[in-house]
Amino acid sequence: MSDSIVGAVVPTARARVALRPVDARGVQLEGGLLGERQRTNREVTILRGAEELERAGTFDNLRIAAGRTTGERRGMVFSDSDVYKWLEALGWELGREPSDELARLNADAVELVAAAQEPDGYLNSWCQVVDPAWRWSDLEQGHELYCAGHLIQAAVAQARATGDTTLLTVATRFADLIDESFRGGPQTGTDGHPEIEVALVELYRCTGEARYRELADTLVSRRGFGLFGHDRFEPRYYQDVEPVRGSRSIVGHAVRALYLAAGVTDLYAESADEQLLEAMLGQWDDLASTKSYLTGGVGSRHVDESIGDPYELPPDRAYCETCAAIASIMWNWRLLLVTGESRFADLLERTLYNGFLSGVSLDGRTFFYSNPLHSRGGHERHAWNPVACCPPNIMRFLASVEQHLATTSPDGVQLHQYAPARLTAGSAALRIETAYPWKGTVEIEIVGSGEEPWTLSLRIPRWARVATVDGKPAAPGGYTEVTRRWRAGDRVVLELDVSPRLTAPNPRIDAVRGCLAVERGPLVYCFEETDLPQGVDLADVTLDASVPLTDAGPVESLAGIQGVAAAGIVASLDGWQRAEYRDTRELSSPEDPRQASLLAVPYFAWANRGAGAMRVWIPHTG
Ligand SMILES: [Zn+2]
Repeated sequence: MSDSIVGAVVPTARARVALRPVDARGVQLEGGLLGERQRTNREVTILRGAEELERAGTFDNLRIAAGRTTGERRGMVFSDSDVYKWLEALGWELGREPSDELARLNADAVELVAAAQEPDGYLNSWCQVVDPAWRWSDLEQGHELYCAGHLIQAAVAQARATGDTTLLTVATRFADLIDESFRGGPQTGTDGHPEIEVALVELYRCTGEARYRELADTLVSRRGFGLFGHDRFEPRYYQDVEPVRGSRSIVGHAVRALYLAAGVTDLYAESADEQLLEAMLGQWDDLASTKSYLTGGVGSRHVDESIGDPYELPPDRAYCETCAAIASIMWNWRLLLVTGESRFADLLERTLYNGFLSGVSLDGRTFFYSNPLHSRGGHERHAWNPVACCPPNIMRFLASVEQHLATTSPDGVQLHQYAPARLTAGSAALRIETAYPWKGTVEIEIVGSGEEPWTLSLRIPRWARVATVDGKPAAPGGYTEVTRRWRAGDRVVLELDVSPRLTAPNPRIDAVRGCLAVERGPLVYCFEETDLPQGVDLADVTLDASVPLTDAGPVESLAGIQGVAAAGIVASLDGWQRAEYRDTRELSSPEDPRQASLLAVPYFAWANRGAGAMRVWIPHTG
């Protein structure tokens, strides 16, 4: 291995990056919201993942491929990737803290994956078990390169986090075969589902072998020339409408588009091809200003699981796949490293606390695939899906979430996300104490430092209307820098105003015109049927925006989670029942409007008390 720090993204010394990740071994979450989610992931979710992969036949598929058992292959064509994402999670967890149980699960699965690999390096249980002649014949939907990408990411994570290169040996053998076939051999296509690009750049970073980066470049550069879209999907579904270097709009299948963008951004960092960065900044602007939900979720259409047109953001039909939220976080992290600009950390935070965290229940046992912003009831999390891409993706991300808190540069240390943690970066050691996101006070104590002065940079989120650093006003939407010759015991106190606020949508988003949303710090809130007075229908509730929002304190039925109190008006519109349309002359004011106190809860915590109605955007008066 050529790199010396642990993390999912480790740019080379030559990479064109403004900021560098902190060695993951130097970051420990100490409780708090993110720390608790990570602990539940380790103690509950990953273990359940093993059971579900067994139950779904996903391990058996590899056993059949390895010749250890017989039977029919089960599950989706891409289900090997579920094992790889789960193995990535195990790599991060075992690197953080030993566990006999996790180590045994990991060793068994890695041994199985290695045993299933063909002598020439090929590895895909669908092809091996169902139809050996199928190899590379269905690049549009076959997902062979997608699965290979997840294998590579798992292998790199394991090698870096634990030093065990067993899986890396498997992954490089497969990557070498892919390179021979796609760069030096007969295969002139590319992958229908991007993912391998981001993995190949990381494999280059991990091994120092330039051919993996060149293969990523080849696969990226082949898009946009009409390779795909001859099946039931169109070229835009596959990001194959125009060459990546000239594309300024983000289109098509959301997860495909965002994984591709993450890989292209990595490729820029390691190739300094400015056309790639220009395309990515254009696509990001398109996404952030017209195609993403308040929750950071991406994907407006169930049809083709795709990103919609600009401002096409219906709350009830929102697709917002959990994998798309993860892919968006991956992309924003890479753009942050490349540019050092806070807007990417802002969108990362919004997505992390809302569109991503909603994907797993508070007990860590059930999952959302789609994350709408409005449900009329019945949207429930599942223990596992036939398409099980999201659960193990959640596992690998939560297992590595602390990697996204901080970076370093020649100037010093930058804090992008706030959580109670200990952090070591070079000669600097910090302790961060905070009850964020519930409270806006963040105390940073310098535990150790070298002799030279350095700069501590603190992100001031754009949502913060009032912020101070050591009592001095700090401008939202950037970084406040404190430069000093630091001594152990020095403290810096950041105060962010996390009082609840009302948010209005861009009027061009027709689907939520006339509605408002409640936010508090980085959290988007929602209203759930279960919190309404008995017999009240959420559809009859209007927010009274003339009454200020107030903190409601901990919600009794959601341990440790803070609510927001709001005033509402309940008006059952009798005249409208059983009528879709009325002549306006027949309409009168609603009879018997009643005041009601409303409770809003964090969006990420919804559907933990039943699958009743929920809405983020709510009509308002006042
Ligand atoms: Zn998914």
